[in-house]
Amino acid sequence: MTEKKETRGRKRLPPEKKKRPQTAVKINDFILPFVKELKGNLKKGLVTEETLAQLLGVLQGAVFNDINSAGIIENLQHHVSNLESENQLLKGNLDDQKKRTLQIVLERDVEHQEAMKIEGRYRALESKYRNLKDRYDALLHQEHDCMAITSNGKRCSKKAVIDITREGLVFHVCLQHSKVFGAI
Ligand SMILES: [Zn+2]
Repeated sequence: MTEKKETRGRKRLPPEKKKRPQTAVKINDFILPFVKELKGNLKKGLVTEETLAQLLGVLQGAVFNDINSAGIIENLQHHVSNLESENQLLKGNLDDQKKRTLQIVLERDVEHQEAMKIEGRYRALESKYRNLKDRYDALLHQEHDCMAITSNGKRCSKKAVIDITREGLVFHVCLQHSKVFGAI
């Protein structure tokens, strides 16, 4: 009985070209997209041993033990720590600034109150000065103006130029009133 040549299925490869048997694994649908992506990348030659090691590292939670990652994380922590101290410093400065501002506001308030008091005193002095000036003017008027009473019953406002004597008293009168008194 002669051996019948197998003609069905895929053509057999010579032994040296035969592929090693591949492991068959059932894949859960949930992780299928990941496996497909990985297989795709593998086909494109994008998956090196290092890539694989990193991916496994990620899956095993070992990424933080990676020297590079650890370095990056350490740098970041250092950076965060620097920023925190900087923030504290700025907060401190801000507090100081607020205190100084408050102090200035209070000082200005006090100065403003002082200024108001001084202004009040100034107004009072000004008013007193005006009164004195009026009094002075009145006195000056009495001293140098005509002492005669005009027809409207008020004192003559003309400047006295002549002194006249009547019944033992001296009167300062203007030229016009001196005529009335018959001095000239
Ligand atoms: Zn007069």
